[in-house]
Amino acid sequence: MKNHYDVMIIGGGMVGLTLACALARSRLQVAVIEAHELTDVNKHDDYELRVSAINRASQQIFSNLNAWQGIQSRRLSPYQKMHVWDSTGDGVIDFDAADLGVDMLGHIIENKVVQLALIEQLKTSSNIDWLCPLSVESIQYADNKSTIKLDDGNEITTALLVGADGASSRVREAAGIEIEKAPYHQKGVVCVVKSSKHHQQTAWQRFLPTGPLAFLPLSDGRCSIVWSATDEEADRLVSLDEDAFCRELEQAFEYALGQVESVGPRAAFPLVRRHAKNYIKPGLALIGDAAHTIHPLAGQGANLGILDAASLAQVILEADLQGREISSYATLRKFERWRRGENTLMMYSMSGFKNLFSNEQTGLTMVRNLGLNLVNKVIPVKHKFMRHAMGLEGDLPEIAKTIGW
Ligand SMILES: Cc1cc2nc3c(=O)[nH]c(=O)nc-3n(C[C@H](O)[C@H](O)[C@H](O)COP(=O)(O)OP(=O)(O)OC[C@H]3O[C@@H](n4cnc5c(N)ncnc54)[C@H](O)[C@@H]3O)c2cc1C
Repeated sequence: MKNHYDVMIIGGGMVGLTLACALARSRLQVAVIEAHELTDVNKHDDYELRVSAINRASQQIFSNLNAWQGIQSRRLSPYQKMHVWDSTGDGVIDFDAADLGVDMLGHIIENKVVQLALIEQLKTSSNIDWLCPLSVESIQYADNKSTIKLDDGNEITTALLVGADGASSRVREAAGIEIEKAPYHQKGVVCVVKSSKHHQQTAWQRFLPTGPLAFLPLSDGRCSIVWSATDEEADRLVSLDEDAFCRELEQAFEYALGQVESVGPRAAFPLVRRHAKNYIKPGLALIGDAAHTIHPLAGQGANLGILDAASLAQVILEADLQGREISSYATLRKFERWRRGENTLMMYSMSGFKNLFSNEQTGLTMVRNLGLNLVNKVIPVKHKFMRHAMGLEGDLPEIAKTIGW
């Protein structure tokens, strides 16, 4: 551990680790501080509750960071199709990778697997220190040199402090950055289930008036589910005994994958839309959930954060190459302008979808079902949706589009 770093990243989740790896092999001295140490996954371990649908842009970033191999060698589940339908009508939409001439839409991967693969890469870089398990006890933000006190008593300073410390970011708080917060009044119930029919490498989502229910395919034939429901309903679902939960789940899912035969441990995460009023201050930047959280219905939260990390790295590396200050407001403002627009668009789309699908007014359900069926048939519009969800559209950082970055 050094006394001073050019860049100090608080939080070694998927997002903070992506930034660290993207700054590898630069002349910058970088540290990542993470409170929780991870144990490697063993083939026989059960799946983690926290999984993410990782899109093509994130995959490209991980490939260019040499972390994709580490993900593949552990476990992942590609999905070629997505089937979405409405419980209150006949609205259906199907997405198929083959329509775009690609072999898959994305992969379902445990968050921990992504982290492990990135940590492996980070450890090969001489300019990055992995400080784990260590917790940040206090942060004194200053525009030219912030000071971090760690729980082992050490104090470190940095020119650029990056908050990648998740939704309850201490960095954001220490910098006095406000957030706009709007609870969705839903929780996401997550667990791993075994159904009598195979998932067919398809991501399934049924929109119920109480919230969307997603079945995401895992490599052993089981599914990781995210059942978004009102707070009270979610608490009730978690407290049901195993058999009662399976019966309610198969019914809510219209037996699309047959009967639900077994279920693993369940947990419920409160779903809240948060957006930091600023992503930056001189000498400070927020990325990932520290800057924004959105509804998981389109599986985009982590993907947006990974793009934040890749974009911030690009801005920092460009500034350093041109001899400009990496932590100045002018440098960081470029990152903020870039990512805020992209994230805002996705956040409002998700809120719109959530509100549209949780409304049971007759006129609206008709329009909604018509809309779904229309998008399903109008191929250019459908392809546009697909390309956006896959991270193939928008203002992407170079590392997300270039092979061999
Ligand atoms: C139910 C559910 C389903 C989801 N599904 C998807 C999906 O399919 N696709 C998708 O793209 N996204 C999905 N998301 C969103 C995704 O999980 C998050 O956006 C993503 O994990 C955020 O990553 P992060 O690295 O920014 O934050 P986090 O994963 O929260 O990581 C923050 C890290 O910082 C560390 N930390 C925090 N404070 C300190 C401190 N003081 N000192 C040291 N370390 C600290 C923590 O230990 C943690 O490791 C889902 C979310 C939910 C709730």
